Amino acid sequence: MNYTHAPYPIVECQLEILRENVKNIADRCHAHGMTVAGVMKGINGHMPLVRQFDEGGCDQIASSRLEQLYEVKKAGITKPTLLLRIPMLGEIENVVQLCDVTLVSEVVTMDALNDECLKQGKKIKVIVMVDLGDLREGYWDRKELVEACAHIENDLPGLELAGVGTNLGCYGSIQPTVEKMEELIEAAEMVEAKIGRQLEWISGGATSSFVLLNDGVMPKRINHLRIGENILLARDLQTDWGLTNMGYLRMDVFTLKAQVLEVKDKPSHPVGKIFMDAFGNFPTYTDRGIRKRALLGMGKLDLGNIEKLLPKEEGIEVLGGSSDHTILDVEDYKKELNVGDVLEFDLCYNTMLFLTSCKSVKMRYFDGDQEVFE
Ligand SMILES: *Cc1c(COP(=O)(O)O)cnc(C)c1O
Repeated sequence: MNYTHAPYPIVECQLEILRENVKNIADRCHAHGMTVAGVMKGINGHMPLVRQFDEGGCDQIASSRLEQLYEVKKAGITKPTLLLRIPMLGEIENVVQLCDVTLVSEVVTMDALNDECLKQGKKIKVIVMVDLGDLREGYWDRKELVEACAHIENDLPGLELAGVGTNLGCYGSIQPTVEKMEELIEAAEMVEAKIGRQLEWISGGATSSFVLLNDGVMPKRINHLRIGENILLARDLQTDWGLTNMGYLRMDVFTLKAQVLEVKDKPSHPVGKIFMDAFGNFPTYTDRGIRKRALLGMGKLDLGNIEKLLPKEEGIEVLGGSSDHTILDVEDYKKELNVGDVLEFDLCYNTMLFLTSCKSVKMRYFDGDQEVFE
């Protein structure tokens, strides 16, 4: 028996463009005296892509997932690895083996990391997280923050207190501002006063904090950022935030191609008694009469969120779909469309996350005109 992977859906990746994005971000960070961690969790650690983070000039390679950092080490990439998700107690041994730096926010976890470091004869750096109101990880109480940092400094010889950091715009949708950065610096200076030395890093956040650097208003003491989306897609800030001064970052690293399975004229409103869809939702439909529609051979399993697909061409509207199908309205599409045709899409973070981790989706890499094999 034999199975040959279908040619579609496929994500085509332009490595040269990715490398340029990395370099453009890294250069700007370095000009500010910053260390920049390239965040590759959004692409599921695909190595031809991760290598561009290294070659383009990131100082650290970061992920929330240890299995991805393992692949980085295995591939022989020598840049320090940074673990973004504060460690689970069940993964401490791997953290110490695979990470050079980790974010932390709980004393039990720091103690467990320290014990494991002593056991393995290693020392790892930690960045202690401060919650500035986004309400995901990090110390809310500043006194507790300072005490935890002093505990690392004085009692945990396996750990090096490298800095403090924060995360914004994730759960609480809080925008990074100069004021938030100054709050973080203030927290860092409380820690520094307690331990009697300067911290190596004050880590000001992710893609959304890069805006402050780009606009030239990032406080000098913020000297570490962790950037994923703005390197890989560069779409959130330019498209959703509407920033017009970031044209040096390209949004076309990735192209998704999917094949048409069916093209038919059909009613736009379902016919019969409307109940619930395959996912337990009760959607509503607009009746626009008979419309030309196309079905694609990919669905929620491949994409996560079908509604977030971004067709590259005019006249294609994404209606929805199910686990394995995407339904398009192509009534206004100006070209002829037949079964077997291939349509192209841009990715957003959500679809990129799913596509790059789905077994049904092929990945292909190009560097200029040259195809690169994994
Ligand atoms: C994912 C993540 C980042 C990177 O976020 P982007 O918005 O992709 O730049 C940075 N820090 C932490 C803690 C993260 O989990």
